[in-house]
Amino acid sequence: MDIPLTIWYCDGCGKAIREMEQGVVGWRTNADLKYYRFLVLHKIDCLTASGSDRWRELQAFPGIDGLSYVLGWLSQGPINQNLGREMYCSLVDLDEYADLMRRLYIPHYEEARRHFNDSRVRGYHQTSDEFTPYTVEQFMRLFDLVEPEDVPSILLQRPKRNTISEWLPLSDQ
Ligand SMILES: [Zn+2]
Repeated sequence: MDIPLTIWYCDGCGKAIREMEQGVVGWRTNADLKYYRFLVLHKIDCLTASGSDRWRELQAFPGIDGLSYVLGWLSQGPINQNLGREMYCSLVDLDEYADLMRRLYIPHYEEARRHFNDSRVRGYHQTSDEFTPYTVEQFMRLFDLVEPEDVPSILLQRPKRNTISEWLPLSDQ
């Protein structure tokens, strides 16, 4: 099992991004200047091949300032509203955005999402709601389903931290 929020899987080549400074988040801008096709990528080759016209260092995303940055895509926020500025959402597809948010901030989501289309996982979550499958506890069950040999003592390995504030490193940016 990966140490959560330390390893990402490149949407270009599929290989692990083990050092945060080797990664970027890339995305595209449409004719309305809205953002779409969010990808986590290796910095040089995979980013170039992705066709992304915008990108930001992966290491800029963890922490509270990173969270504020991606929330800015969703809403300009109350200060801009009070200033009478035009309010808009910079996102084309909220499902895609939520997937990126979970990849960046939910422990174990990045590793687990590689198995979301596994028939055992689909079967296990047939009656799940929109929240439960993306909890740390359920990711532990998922790993047990798909990689039982890798996770011999699942309950012993379950992380004790399960709130976002405990996982997010304090931003020094
Ligand atoms: Zn890559």
